[in-house]
Amino acid sequence: PTQALDAPYTYVVPESDAAYAPVTLFDEVDAAPGTDGEELAVEVGCAVVVPLGSRKVVGFVLDVRDLDEGDAPDGVDPARLRPIDAVASKPYFNEEGAACARWIADRYIAPLSACVRLFTPPGAVPKMTRSPYGAWQLVAPETQEADDRWIVPGPAFDDFQPRKNAAKQDAVVSALKSGGEAKVVELTAQVGAVSGAIAALEKKGVVTVEHRRRMRSVGDAGASAAPVRPSASAPKLTDDQARAVELVVQASRRGKGEAVLVDGVTGSGKTEVYLRAIEDVLAHGRTACVLVPEISLTPQTVGRFRRRFGDKVAVIHSRMSPGERYDQWDFIKSGLARVVVGARSALFTPLENVGLYVIDEEHEGSYKQDSAPRYHARDVALWMAARNGAAVVLGSATPSIETLHACAKDPRFHRALLPRRANGRPMPVVQVVDMAKEFGSGSRSMFSLALKRALEEELSAGRKAVLMLNQRGFAKFLLCRECGFVPECPSCSTSLTYHERGAELACHHCGRREPAPGRCPECGSPYLKKFGAGTQRVESELRGLLNEMEGVGTDVPIIRMDADTTSRKGAHQQLLETFAAADAAVLLGTQMIAKGLDFDDVTLVGVINADTTLHIPDYRASERTFSLVEQVAGRAGRAELPGCVLVQTYEGDSVPIRAAAAYDRAAFLKDELPKRRLLRYPPYAAMANVLVWGKNESEVAAEAEAVHKAVQTSVRDFGGDGWSVLPAVPCVLAKLRNTYRWHVVVRAPAGEDLSRALLPFMRRRRAHPSVSVAVDVDPFDV
Ligand code: ADP
Ligand code: ZN
Ligand code: ZN
Repeated sequence: PTQALDAPYTYVVPESDAAYAPVTLFDEVDAAPGTDGEELAVEVGCAVVVPLGSRKVVGFVLDVRDLDEGDAPDGVDPARLRPIDAVASKPYFNEEGAACARWIADRYIAPLSACVRLFTPPGAVPKMTRSPYGAWQLVAPETQEADDRWIVPGPAFDDFQPRKNAAKQDAVVSALKSGGEAKVVELTAQVGAVSGAIAALEKKGVVTVEHRRRMRSVGDAGASAAPVRPSASAPKLTDDQARAVELVVQASRRGKGEAVLVDGVTGSGKTEVYLRAIEDVLAHGRTACVLVPEISLTPQTVGRFRRRFGDKVAVIHSRMSPGERYDQWDFIKSGLARVVVGARSALFTPLENVGLYVIDEEHEGSYKQDSAPRYHARDVALWMAARNGAAVVLGSATPSIETLHACAKDPRFHRALLPRRANGRPMPVVQVVDMAKEFGSGSRSMFSLALKRALEEELSAGRKAVLMLNQRGFAKFLLCRECGFVPECPSCSTSLTYHERGAELACHHCGRREPAPGRCPECGSPYLKKFGAGTQRVESELRGLLNEMEGVGTDVPIIRMDADTTSRKGAHQQLLETFAAADAAVLLGTQMIAKGLDFDDVTLVGVINADTTLHIPDYRASERTFSLVEQVAGRAGRAELPGCVLVQTYEGDSVPIRAAAAYDRAAFLKDELPKRRLLRYPPYAAMANVLVWGKNESEVAAEAEAVHKAVQTSVRDFGGDGWSVLPAVPCVLAKLRNTYRWHVVVRAPAGEDLSRALLPFMRRRRAHPSVSVAVDVDPFDV
């Protein structure tokens, strides 16, 4: 395609001159399909083969309309439309899906084909092949992954006389004689390619081919938990929970797309609220779609839903093989699944009649997709709920500022508070340890005295500790080890990033650059440290410390959990299990340990460097720090043993850290909101990031400048007062996998639709041969 965004093409529905269909196009088909395939009707959601110039391509039907409706797309002359060649599949999505794909394409300024692909079954590559029996078919994962074709004797089986020189046919028939039936892949394994022989035999009625769909069990997602009667396992709700359930149930019954924020501390029983609300939804004949962050989608999580709703639960996540996902997709399509639990892509399964969408841990950044289409699952769920007459539950112990803001401003948002743990245990006490003071008193260790003592005490008593290293792999910043000072950009209030090359500090919002100082501008200290320590280094220092500790065996395991140790499928889960099974042990990891971690016997939680996230060059830095500290703290002392939390920081009086330690969200917001308002960041502004990337540094830089100009023009034409286009600057990750990345930030008053200016810009834009451009609306990382 020569355009940065694609639009649907329009075709005539065959044998019905009076109807046409807009079709989004995908890959080219390698050969022209015949007409001997199964006759399928042209319906919304079908894969079809259509002519495009002299080529044949596969597309998906978005709409079927009568020509005399008179609303043929602009510039389309009905007389010149070409017919669809063939229908290649049954519908994968319905009108709602097509409408949603179009909405996502507009809202997030994304290619329509990428949005349509969200709704096609996982792994279903729109590619056509000719089946052994002559028909053209879409290659879907059920045929790619697990060939499920079986052959059984046909009506003419008993009369069959094998011809000479037909050894394969003979082999097929004798396999059936001895086994009664045979699986095609197994026959192939034994005697070589048999498709031709089977096709010949099938024609003569000697054999019949059956497709036997086998549900691949979703082993690592807890498929086998036995269903239990709801009343048997459900605890009596606390008053807070009962109120929350009531709010959700009412919103779902009204069916007006309302949202309920379930704002509850860790362990307050939010999941129980979801389960009860879903019971009500199911009792009213509707279904529910539950999203959890990928990393929290563990067998335990899924098990809680299966124990309540039994085999009506389907599971969708990205660690499943395409075949497994296809089976779940098919299960949902069949209408038998009533509850879908999954990662963000679970929104796009063919679940019908949804009464409730649940978004657990709604503050999580992983709900925003970081490739096209760059949608946010929360906003898509809100759109779907409004369209389908459902409600949305947003659950979190640390709701996002956007959601809190919506609760305060938008009458469709309600809030239910769960301020106490369901088991009555108190929240752990959080102690902030000032590392600058420790440094002042001569310590050069990453571990404060308080943390060392606490580790010794807990481990020697055979208990467990979790240590978090707050890390942002790439962004380095300067920090004064004596006073905690971090250089910031005066106009953007985000910290400056340190660049080795040229020893410079740079602002990734406005482009400001300055040489890195040799001494602290605040206190004059020469101890300016470049920050960004890895888990491995912390692990080796910790090992040394443990070895010196009284009463702590040298064999106490340190389980390290970071990007390196969890890259393998299932590794994350395995590490957590090892930790759960151990006696005394330390789990040392990056932010990922704050998620999906639910251990009753963790008594000590330590945050090695709470301030790192304060200095990422992002307007959400404080919010992330606040939420991270509070999330990790909530992991301690969930059961009988009291918990203790130590938060180390060089910025002892940082508001987000202090406020998190005191469980005082109001104090945090009181500090944060005025800053956001003053500097025009969300929720007081709408924001988009125009990304420009490519392999050639100077081309990317030049194109970024050109994009900046074009966006400025577009904003002048379409935007109103209060819009601004910041200069083109390199991204925080200026170079990633040999790709150079720049961006242009666009801001508009809150509630403005950025696509007013950015859609025309992207539609006008011709593709550049070697530099890509995309828009990220409501970016999570700026
Ligand atoms: P959250 O999702 O808010 O962190 P959970 O739903 O995981 O909390 O609940 C925490 C623990 O409390 C779980 O073990 C759960 O079974 C238990 N629980 C939830 N609600 C109740 C209740 N009403 N009475 C007793 N225990 C409950
Ligand atoms: Zn700046
Ligand atoms: Zn200093």
